[in-house]
Amino acid sequence: MDILNKTVEEVASIARSGEVSVKEIAEQTINAIKQKDSKIKAFVHIDFDAVIKRSEELDAKKDKSGVLFGVPVAIKDNMNMKDTETTAGSKILSGYISPYDATVVEKLKNAGALIVGKTNMDEFAMGSSTENSAFFNTHNPVKPEYVPGGSSGGSAAAVKANEAIASLGSDTGGSIREPAAFCGVTGLKPTYGRVSRYGLIAFASSLDQIGPFGKTVKDTAIMLNAIAGFDPRDETSVQTEKEDFTELLGKDIKGKKIGVIKEVRDFELQEEVKNSFNDTVKALQNAGAIIEEVSIPHLKYALPVYYIIAPAEASANLARFDGVRYGLKVEGKDLRETYEKTRTEGFGTEVKRRILIGTFTLSAGYYDAYYLKASKVRRLISNDFEKAFSKVDALILPTTSTTAFKLGSITNPLQMYMNDIFTIPISLAGLPAISIPSGKDKKGLPIGMQLVGKWLAEKELLQIAYAVEQELGGKNGI
Ligand code: GLN
Repeated sequence: MDILNKTVEEVASIARSGEVSVKEIAEQTINAIKQKDSKIKAFVHIDFDAVIKRSEELDAKKDKSGVLFGVPVAIKDNMNMKDTETTAGSKILSGYISPYDATVVEKLKNAGALIVGKTNMDEFAMGSSTENSAFFNTHNPVKPEYVPGGSSGGSAAAVKANEAIASLGSDTGGSIREPAAFCGVTGLKPTYGRVSRYGLIAFASSLDQIGPFGKTVKDTAIMLNAIAGFDPRDETSVQTEKEDFTELLGKDIKGKKIGVIKEVRDFELQEEVKNSFNDTVKALQNAGAIIEEVSIPHLKYALPVYYIIAPAEASANLARFDGVRYGLKVEGKDLRETYEKTRTEGFGTEVKRRILIGTFTLSAGYYDAYYLKASKVRRLISNDFEKAFSKVDALILPTTSTTAFKLGSITNPLQMYMNDIFTIPISLAGLPAISIPSGKDKKGLPIGMQLVGKWLAEKELLQIAYAVEQELGGKNGI
C-alpha cells in the first residue's frame, strides 16, 4: 500500500490498526526521500537510522491513540530537536547539536508522530524563495526550475513531493503561506501566541509563529490539534482552553460574511491570480457565504513597517551568535576579532543586511523615528483589521500576487520583499490565516488563496477554508 499519497488521518488510522507497521511506513518514506530528494532538496539534515529506530519504538507501543500515530512529519530546521543538528539555514550554526526539544517537537512526539528530518530554509527565515539557505537551493516539486517559496520552502516542498505527509514551518511575515501557495499545498499560520515558540530559533519575536503544512485543510487542523496550547516557557503564549480544530469541518457556512479588501485592488496581480481569486469568491458564494467589501486603509504601510520591525528584532536576537556559544567559531587574535571573523564568515548577505538595518533603527536618536513610529503604524494596521472584523467573519485575498518565479531570477532584495505584500499585514496584526490551493497558471504552477480569521478563531477559519476546498474540488480537484 502506498502510504505517502494519503492524508494524516488515513495514515494514522492505518498505522493504528496495524494494517501497515510504522516501520514499513518509515521504510517507504526513506525510499521516497532517497529517490526524490537529490532533485528536490527539501531536507538538510536527516538520520535514517534514527527514523527506523523511532518507528520500531512506535510499533512496540501499547498506546497507539496519538492523533499523529505513525505519521511521517518533517520539520523546518529552525526548530530544536534533541540530539539533531539544527542550523536555521545558516553556516554560523553548522555543527550545532540541539540539547533539547522545542515544545512543538515534544508535542509531535507525544502525539506519536514519526519525525523524518529537518527541512531547508532561508537563513534565519529571512527570504521568500529558500535561495538564502547557506547550504543549497530547494526546488519546486511542481516544476524544478522554479523556487518553492520561502522561508519554509523545504517544508512545503517535502509535503508536495510526498516525502512526508505533513510538516511544520514558521511564519514571520508569510513564510508558511507563501511557500504553500507556490508549491500547491495548504499552509496555516495560527494566531500569534497559539503555538509555543519555545525552542524555535528567533527571527522577529513579536511576529514569529509556528504552523503546519498539509495536503488538505483537515490535515492542518489535525496538526494544529497536536501542536497548539499554552506553554509557560513562552512568555507570549496565550492561555486558551483545549480546542478540537476539526470540530466545525463540514458544517455549512451559510450566511457567513466574508470580506474582500478594497485596497488589494491597488496592487497589480498576475491575470491568472486575479481569475482564481474571482473563482474562489464564487466558490464561497456557492457555499452560501455573503461577500462584503471592507477597507484596510493602512495596508500599503505594512511592508515598510515590517522591514523596520523585523530587522530591529532580528538584530537583537542574532547578537547571541558570536562564536562563543554555538556552532561556528573563527579564531581571531582577541575576543573582538573572534566575534568579527565568526560573524563575517558565518552570516550570509541578507542576514547581514538586516542586522545592519536593525542596529541602525534601534540606535540612540533613531529609535523614536523608526522603531517607535513603525510600532505605532503597526497598531493602526491592527485597528483596521479589528474594524473590518466587526463586520465580517473572515477575509479573502490572494496569498501572493504572482505564482512561483524561476530560481535565480530575482536578485533585487526589494523585489523579493514584494512577494509578501499580502501576508505581512496579517502577521503584523497577529491574526490566523491559511493558504489553500485555488488553481494553476498557464505554466501549471499552483496559485494560493488566503483566508484570514479573527484573533484565536482558527476553528471558524478552518471551517470556512474547508468549505472552499470542497467547492474547489478537494484534495484531488486541483
Ligand atoms: N519573506 C519575509 C522576510 O524575508 C518573511 C519571512 C518569514 O515569514 N519568515 O522577512
